[in-house]
Amino acid sequence: MTPAPVPPRPHAPGVRASLALLVLACVLPVALVAVVVIVNFYHRERAQLIDSTVARAHAIIAATDRDIAATQLALQILSGSTLLRDGDLAGFHQRAAGLVGQLGADSIVLLDTDGTLLLSTRSPYGAPLARLGRAPLLQRILASGRPGVSDMFTGPLNGKPIFSVGVPVRRDGVIVMTLNAIYTPERLLHVLSEQKLPAHWRVSVLDTGGRVVTRSHELATYAGRQVGPALRRQLGTASEAGMDTRTLEGQDVYVVYSRSPRTGWSAVLGIPRAELTARLAGTLAWLVSAAAAALAAGLGLAWLLGGRIARSVQALVAPARAVGAGGIPAIPPLHFREANELGNALREAALGMQRARAGMRESEQQLALAANAAHLGIWTRELRGDALWASDQWRALFGFDSSQPLTLDALLARVHPDDRAAVQRTLQGTLHGAPRYDMEYRLLPPAGGAPRWIGSHGSVEFDEQGRPLRVRGVSLDITAHKQAELDLLQKQKEVTHLARVAMLGELSGALAHELNQPLTAILSNAQAARRFLAQPEPDLAEVAEILIDIVAEDKRAGDIIQRLRRLFGKQDMPRQRLDARELADGVIRLMRNDLIQHGLSVRAEPGDEPLAIQADPVQLQQVLINLLMNACDAQAAPPASDGVIVLRCARDGDAALFSVIDHGAGIAPELLPRIFDPFTTTKARGMGLGLSICRSIAAAHHGTLWAHNNPDGGASFHLRLPLADAP
Ligand code: ADP
Repeated sequence: MTPAPVPPRPHAPGVRASLALLVLACVLPVALVAVVVIVNFYHRERAQLIDSTVARAHAIIAATDRDIAATQLALQILSGSTLLRDGDLAGFHQRAAGLVGQLGADSIVLLDTDGTLLLSTRSPYGAPLARLGRAPLLQRILASGRPGVSDMFTGPLNGKPIFSVGVPVRRDGVIVMTLNAIYTPERLLHVLSEQKLPAHWRVSVLDTGGRVVTRSHELATYAGRQVGPALRRQLGTASEAGMDTRTLEGQDVYVVYSRSPRTGWSAVLGIPRAELTARLAGTLAWLVSAAAAALAAGLGLAWLLGGRIARSVQALVAPARAVGAGGIPAIPPLHFREANELGNALREAALGMQRARAGMRESEQQLALAANAAHLGIWTRELRGDALWASDQWRALFGFDSSQPLTLDALLARVHPDDRAAVQRTLQGTLHGAPRYDMEYRLLPPAGGAPRWIGSHGSVEFDEQGRPLRVRGVSLDITAHKQAELDLLQKQKEVTHLARVAMLGELSGALAHELNQPLTAILSNAQAARRFLAQPEPDLAEVAEILIDIVAEDKRAGDIIQRLRRLFGKQDMPRQRLDARELADGVIRLMRNDLIQHGLSVRAEPGDEPLAIQADPVQLQQVLINLLMNACDAQAAPPASDGVIVLRCARDGDAALFSVIDHGAGIAPELLPRIFDPFTTTKARGMGLGLSICRSIAAAHHGTLWAHNNPDGGASFHLRLPLADAP
């Protein structure tokens, strides 16, 4: 069975493309996972940074609170001075001026409850002072009675942004004045620098209105300026949080703030957004380059390896073709162990094939020798395309020389015209599923010669779908065998005839007696007629009746002679349709006298339905007479039985069954298997051919003949013949 060739796939991927795909399939998922991990890591780091930044914002605002609280404490101590209580404002001015430097303040001022400036360290004592009015801080201190800190405001004297820390001054428990330290934004710068934050971070302290109290960068420009509304809104919601925003100078930052519960001020730390994402961007860039490098390296390697694999495989194509062509391929050294193993396997396959071919050639030669010795012609016919191949022996048999082209028509032209149709039919049968055939046919005789007989046996090979593919067969000259068969048939015929003649010899006495009867009847009838006619008035009606009798008797005699002639004749009768019961009846009539002579009688049991068979009546009579005569012989021998022989005729399925049953001595058991063999006899004058001829006749009628001993003595012989088809 030839495996189907691999269907061509124009878009089948090459080794290189497949390896490149493999590299992509390996690198890309890893790169993707790495991106996810890195982004995740970035988010965690960012959260950590934000947490630590919140802590720092908290520290800044706490330090601010402490600073303010320290100032308030110093102011409270100052407010309790006896100089102030005694109304020595000049002395108090001097004391306060001394404290300004210690507090790092711009100035210290004393206000009455209306906001009137009673004293300012910025002006020499006694100089005229401005009336400031009730500032929010003053109102808060008056309302709460507690120290406080103002938001940023513009200094009335220098027009610069400042803030003030104030404490109440009481007289007999009533607030009569407030003492305030005025600060410039620079005063709190040290709080920022103490945190040692990265230089590029933007750090500010904002008052409750979101104005810059102090700032790490460009303080002079932005002090007192209000931050953007988004951040202001955010500051109003939570005490600690973070958000993306933009600094006053327009830099993108992520801000984190912490608000003081005491002052309502917030420390705001702005981390430049670029710094936050720089590491992620850097790591991602690194990852992308690493992935790209791995991809490039992988693809390069795939290209290199793929090329080598492809070259190794391609290098085996030519050797494989060489193996197919029957050669021993030269395998070049290949780059891969497996390819080398495949190459070696190809080489071994080639050597194996060469050995197998040599073996095949040898067995072909042996087969040819055997075929020649047996005079067998071998042939093959491909059913698709109808190509014919035949051995030289076959060509010689059919009269083709070795160069002559073989065709089915040329072959049929050499077949005897009488057999041509049958040969054609048989060959046709192989196309329609017949698995094998055996046939015999004649070839056209050479000029002046006899036709030669050919025996041909063919066997059909089928493909996987069960369709006939080719027929292989042998043809043999069977002329001699056929001739021997014909000769044998002829001899058999002669022996059958001789047996019949011998049988007639035995029957002749009875036949003479049988003929005697009608002749005697004719004679006495003729004499009676003559007597009637000699009377003066002859009774003509009586004479006519006598003449009818004479004609009937004459017919009977004629019948007997006819039957004898047939039996005696060498020619067989052609097969004809006849009723088995009539045949049996005719035989009993033929043998009646012989039976009487033996003191035996035959009881006919004809059955009750006609049984039509297609037979040669004379040959069947011969069989039944033979069986009846054997039965007579068996019953004549002592101990004699009641003398009745039964000839039964019955239907047996689709056959007619004749049975001859006697009550003689039966057949000796050791003889039973051989009685149908020629020359088996137990009789002194027997030839032992009767039963053998009977069986040949039965076989020629497609019937069977067999015998057995009866349980109650004697033997039975049965002849079974197929019923004829309905006419
Ligand atoms: P032949 O009658 O010349 O002997 P047959 O072939 O007719 O040859 O019979 C062969 C032998 O079979 C007989 O010799 C006989 O021994 C045996 N045989 C045939 N018919 C009977 C029978 N009805 N009863 C017993 N033996 C028989």
